[in-house]
Amino acid sequence: GKGSAMVTAVAYRFAAQQAERQRILDTLRLSRNQLLEVKERMNEEMARGLSKQTHEQASIKMLPTYVRSTPDGTEHGDFLALDLGGSSFRVLLVQVRSGTKSNVDMHHKIYSIPQETMQGTAEELFDHIVDCIADFLKYRDMRGVSLPLGFTFSFPCHQSKLDQGILLRWTKGFKASGCEGHDVVSLLKDAVRRKQEFDLNFVAVVNDTVGTMMTCSYEDPKCEVGLIVGTGTNACYMEEMHNIELVEGDSGLMCVNMEWGAFGEGGELDDFCTQFDRVVDACSSNPGKQRYEKMISGMYLGEIVRNVLLDFTAKGLLFRGKLSERLKTHGIFETKFLTQIEKDRLAMRQIRSILQHLGLTSSTCDDSVVVKEVCSVVARRAAQLCGAGLAAVIDKIRQNRNLNQLSITVGVDGTLYKTHPHFSSIMQETLQDLAPQCQVTFHKSEDGSGKGAALITAVACRIMTQDNN
Ligand code: BGC
Ligand code: MG
Repeated sequence: GKGSAMVTAVAYRFAAQQAERQRILDTLRLSRNQLLEVKERMNEEMARGLSKQTHEQASIKMLPTYVRSTPDGTEHGDFLALDLGGSSFRVLLVQVRSGTKSNVDMHHKIYSIPQETMQGTAEELFDHIVDCIADFLKYRDMRGVSLPLGFTFSFPCHQSKLDQGILLRWTKGFKASGCEGHDVVSLLKDAVRRKQEFDLNFVAVVNDTVGTMMTCSYEDPKCEVGLIVGTGTNACYMEEMHNIELVEGDSGLMCVNMEWGAFGEGGELDDFCTQFDRVVDACSSNPGKQRYEKMISGMYLGEIVRNVLLDFTAKGLLFRGKLSERLKTHGIFETKFLTQIEKDRLAMRQIRSILQHLGLTSSTCDDSVVVKEVCSVVARRAAQLCGAGLAAVIDKIRQNRNLNQLSITVGVDGTLYKTHPHFSSIMQETLQDLAPQCQVTFHKSEDGSGKGAALITAVACRIMTQDNN
């Protein structure tokens, strides 16, 4: 009768909508061949970044870090560390004792950087940083001391020595004017001089990936790669000096800060990008830049999800076609929600309450299922892309050494990697599949970047004292 015809019509419409959603989600799903292609292109860009001739045009800059030796356990002393560019800004005191390794004591305090300061001038930003250091010294009862400092500065810097870093560009929403093209050590020291409250000794500039690798290799000598998947993403690894054409000298190894987040700026990822990636890029503070980072890291995944949900809703495939104001708000879908929604034991009821929190009050149970699937597809692609990049890095290290099999450790940090329920396992699966000749162990680092910066400073200070003697 009429009733069953209606049921059939509803079922048909339901199936058609489901098919339409899957067709859209398929654009966010990558095949094994596509991932192999990503690995291959990453590999090419790495070579181009390392070579003098192609360095300028290469999207991946492969920056020399002047970090060559790992701690030997004899370094000791008190060091300050700054950690700028991750999810929080911290000042740390790191006390390194010689002898037994991992004999390191740390104290830290977290400070906030107001949005206005992040987007103000260099003077404002560095005065604020120096105020925080001064506050920390008071708090530790260390007024007037002058310590060496490891500056974890998690942005691309051109270095020609350890104690200098010229900021190439801001990433991750930082914008302070007058910093790009300038040496951040000088900016810091100028601000210290203006404050006239304390002095800084030697200052080493360290990328967070490098600090993380260093901390991990302090305990595990097989750790020769550092990886961050947090607000932004990046990797570093120990490269043969003779492959680093930007630095004189052919013997031994040096850590290279890849700045892989910029991969794709030369169009390398265009074949894999979706309309959602293009919108997220266009609405970011740095359009056209950091394309790989924008498909992987915490600052952007929620935005990709939000844009998919907007599209679904506009097409009547979600939330009964009703667009809420909240959903139209940039940044509303924080990565925190992304990791919560994917927790396996989370019931649909809880997912709905997360959606309600996001102002998506009219959601139904079916809506929850859809939202969860979108989150899972976006996170899976991120983890796979990251795994494909890592496969290129690790296979390069294996080939550098002419090995058939390589066993290596990666030191990892970053909120997304650490808190997402599936990111790390999908990334590892992909890596294993794309670099089958490598056995990779992942070592999660706690507080790795700050501690690592202090260790690097300690090594530099040890070598300087030796040279002076
Ligand atoms: C920066 C890198 C940093 C990474 C992780 C990127 O945006 O360019 O220098 O290592 O974020 O914090
Ligand atoms: Mg060289």
